Amino acid sequence: METAKDALKIGIMGGTFNPVHYGHLRAAEEARERLSLEKVIFIPAGNPPHKSENLAPAEDRYNMTLLAIQDCPYFSVSRIETDRQDKSYTFETLETLKKNPEYTKAELYFITGFDAVLDIINWKSPEAIAALCRIAAVSRPGYTQDKISSLPENIRRTVIPLEMPLLEISGTELRRRIIDGKSIKYLVPPSVEKYIVEKGLYV
Ligand code: NAP
Repeated sequence: METAKDALKIGIMGGTFNPVHYGHLRAAEEARERLSLEKVIFIPAGNPPHKSENLAPAEDRYNMTLLAIQDCPYFSVSRIETDRQDKSYTFETLETLKKNPEYTKAELYFITGFDAVLDIINWKSPEAIAALCRIAAVSRPGYTQDKISSLPENIRRTVIPLEMPLLEISGTELRRRIIDGKSIKYLVPPSVEKYIVEKGLYV
């Protein structure tokens, strides 16, 4: 994708955020710093096309993400997918953002986990996604080397592997801990932990 010299660089942090945790926040901050992004917009998937197991309501995942980013001036959260009734397709989200005069000329960097990116050919309109943004794929150091070659060339050239020492936290593990009655302290921001307990999520 061509990159205009002075275009605003905006990170789009896509994820189910079920729940959001320090791994996501650290990945967004690393991406912001390393790609010199102006800001990062978190977009919790409202009705993810690909999963439903123990999925907290979209409104709760939006609220938790909003609580999680409170102390970072570079982060914001968008309701763009939370408010959409039908499936949350990434290409539609990117198209909607591009129609917003604030972002028409911006360079969008869609940040997500490398595992998710490896599956991108099964997403709706992967070519449209590749034309609308660069894809910042977050993974552990050394993880991408052989895997990236499995992506088709037109997708691969938009992917920026962002290798970083990831915090070993996953949404699946957090939900399991909650079901087992174990603590999630220091894995998610205190405000998110409080929200999960008060709302009785994931039990
Ligand atoms: P996922 O399969 O749950 O995530 C794969 C891995 O990446 C997990 O380990 C996950 O950690 C991690 N991860 C997810 N988002 C991340 C982020 N922003 N930064 C760092 N690590 C991240 O994938 P997902 O979260 O459901 O989906 C990722 C994005 O792809 C979402 O925006 C989703 O809407 C989009 N997507 C679109 C389509 C489509 O358009 N058809 C299909 C699939 C996905 P955790 O488990 O801890 O979150």
